[in-house]
Amino acid sequence: MSPKHPTHLRAHTYHGLAPGPRLLVTGAVHGNETCGTRAITQLLEEIDGGALSIERGTVTFVPVTNPLAYRLKQRMGERNLNRNMAPSAIPQDFEDRIANVLCPLLDAHDVLLDLHSFHTGGAPFVMIGPQNNQGALEPFTHAPEEMQLALHTGPHRIVEGWLETYARGVKRRTALAEASGGGRAQSLVTDPNYGVGTTEYMRSRGGYGVTLECGQHEDPQAVQVARYAILQTLGLLGLIAQPAAPVPMEREILRLVDVIDREHAGDSFTREWHSFDAVKAGEAIGTRHGGEAITAPADGFVVFPNPRGEVGQEWFYFAQRRA
Ligand SMILES: [Zn+2]
Repeated sequence: MSPKHPTHLRAHTYHGLAPGPRLLVTGAVHGNETCGTRAITQLLEEIDGGALSIERGTVTFVPVTNPLAYRLKQRMGERNLNRNMAPSAIPQDFEDRIANVLCPLLDAHDVLLDLHSFHTGGAPFVMIGPQNNQGALEPFTHAPEEMQLALHTGPHRIVEGWLETYARGVKRRTALAEASGGGRAQSLVTDPNYGVGTTEYMRSRGGYGVTLECGQHEDPQAVQVARYAILQTLGLLGLIAQPAAPVPMEREILRLVDVIDREHAGDSFTREWHSFDAVKAGEAIGTRHGGEAITAPADGFVVFPNPRGEVGQEWFYFAQRRA
């Protein structure tokens, strides 16, 4: 490893003296998303100074989950830590080494609050997993608890169905890659395990968790969003005496239904899309290199548009309001 590579992962654990659930709070899984790091740093000081008391259960804070990416002030170190999350016997890169200590930490907790931020402006949102199911992809039994957690973290908008949609995109991508001969680079992005990040890993191990997108990377308000969500989660789980504030009735739940890959460097959007821009059925979203229009299959929303997405990877997601 290069000398600039960090050699440890820092975690802070508080054990309440009464029994209770075990919560893990992570910041900077993506190195340039530091609102969680800052909110965690504030709260560590408050707990250590006696202003906030952990009374039940266990909470572990990991302020900087990808220390290499954090040091580089960028999203990834050697790769995206929030993909292909699993222990490996023979780690291939820095993120594999982090996963080898992070996965046992995830295993040792029941609930995960993973704090992120995003590049373009817009309101905070929270991502949840599937509904309860016994399918092969992401079997799950904690959907009601996870929804309660999501509701209490604060944002008005909840997004669901990511792994299922991602896996469907991977299947389509695999078919395309096989048709065109395929290569080793293709094999990673055609592996459905590649879609497994922190929350998906947590669910695969019997826990639950949410990804909170707190706001734009540089927005100071994002730190407040992260802080509020941590305090609400501590209250909801009963780790602190102060109960969580009640949640407003009105929420918007969006279901990701499709992912569209960028197939050629010449594929372009019809305009600059932001996440959650509404589109009408048939409205043009982009144009393929060959001139074919990519249109909305129904009334819905453009989500996670990436105009500079790599060829053969996600270009944008399409979401609809949950019925
Ligand atoms: Zn992120």
